Amino acid sequence: MAVPKWHRSKSRQGQRRMHIFLKSPRLAACKKCGKPVLPHTLCENCGTYRGKEFIDVLAKLTKKERKQKEKELAAQEAAAPSASKELSPEALSKNG
Ligand SMILES: [Zn+2]
Repeated sequence: MAVPKWHRSKSRQGQRRMHIFLKSPRLAACKKCGKPVLPHTLCENCGTYRGKEFIDVLAKLTKKERKQKEKELAAQEAAAPSASKELSPEALSKNG
C-alpha cells in the first residue's frame, strides 16, 4: 500500500485547503420590492419576476396577515424603485 512520505502538518493542510469553502450566493435586488433574490429566480417576498406577478403572495394568508403584508409591500415598493431607476439600462438608452 502506498504511504505518504512526509507528515502534512495541520498548518500545511489548512494552506492547501484555504480556497476550499462555500461561497456566498450572488444576490440581485428585486426590482419591485428591493429584497435580495437569486438571479433568474422569482421573488418569494412579492411573487414577481422581471416586473410581472406570477404568484399571489396574499392568497394563502389570513385577513390579519394580509393587511400586514400589504403594508410591508407598500413600504418596500416606496423605498426600492428610486435606487433601481437610476441604473436601469432602458432609462440610460432613452437618454443617450
Ligand atoms: Zn420582490
